[in-house]
Amino acid sequence: MKFLGFNIGEKPHLENAFCDFHVHTTFSDGLLTPEQVTEIAKEKGLAALGIADHDAVGGIEPAIKKGKQIGVEILPAVELSCIVGDCDIHILGYYVDYKNKKLIAILEDIQSKRMERAKKMVEKLADQGAEVELARVLELAGNGTVGRPHIAQALLEQGHISSYDEAFWKYIGYHCPAYVPKEKLTPRQAIEMIRQFHGIPILAHPMSYNNRAIVNFIIDEGIAGLEIWRPDHSENDMKYLNALVTNNHLLATGGTDCHGGRKGKILIGEIKVPYEYVTALKNAR
Ligand code: AMP
Ligand code: ZN
Ligand code: FE
Ligand code: FE
Repeated sequence: MKFLGFNIGEKPHLENAFCDFHVHTTFSDGLLTPEQVTEIAKEKGLAALGIADHDAVGGIEPAIKKGKQIGVEILPAVELSCIVGDCDIHILGYYVDYKNKKLIAILEDIQSKRMERAKKMVEKLADQGAEVELARVLELAGNGTVGRPHIAQALLEQGHISSYDEAFWKYIGYHCPAYVPKEKLTPRQAIEMIRQFHGIPILAHPMSYNNRAIVNFIIDEGIAGLEIWRPDHSENDMKYLNALVTNNHLLATGGTDCHGGRKGKILIGEIKVPYEYVTALKNAR
């Protein structure tokens, strides 16, 4: 059976155990709860699942609880944003001490700055004639980290756009009139923050930046690994990333980055990374 990037069976070690390293929950901009994503992972035959919410770790414990009941191992993670030039870079931190009070306080501070940002984006949208209520955006975010997907959802509800993606190319994508950047962490700061809390920093969606120099720069800044296997990566992307991982002695992960169907369908199960990559991550701690 061929999965993205693998001929399963070439890898006899733990050949029946697979992981999706990267999903979102209602604790950030995912549409499914931690319990729901864990149940879906089980249904799809995954042994392990990475809970990687934007600037939030609250989804990890409920997922672990559910995972213990039904037999899914949860990889605790967080997805931090940082900036290179005007490019928004995401760095995943696996096995961070998600119960650490200092980490939680830092994330809460980032979350409150995100609320300010949401307010600014709503104001800019009004200037563009696309009015949405800030209260509605925050309501859509619930107790989770507020982000552009919630704004896109509010725009859709108000009929200002006719598809989720339109929000990004018309209003809130980079270089669009209502886009407001986030927190100005540098990649080095994000990497150091993850390491400070005993996590392993992995570059998320390396091809999305459309800039190979940035990927090399982040490798030089001390990233521990790259997210190679994703539904939005071509065979060539994966070959290129695989070569980078090999040449720089990095770790490799892969995942669907599922947002619970926000982008059309529930992706969990579409990427199945052999469990040995989880073992490699654990050994790197
Ligand atoms: P934020 O952290 O608020 O900047 O929002 C980032 C999230 O918005 C990403 O994790 C994606 O889920 C989503 N997103 C960003 N750009 C796009 C895009 N062009 N099309 C669809 N979703 C996007
Ligand atoms: Zn997201
Ligand atoms: Fe991301
Ligand atoms: Fe993500």
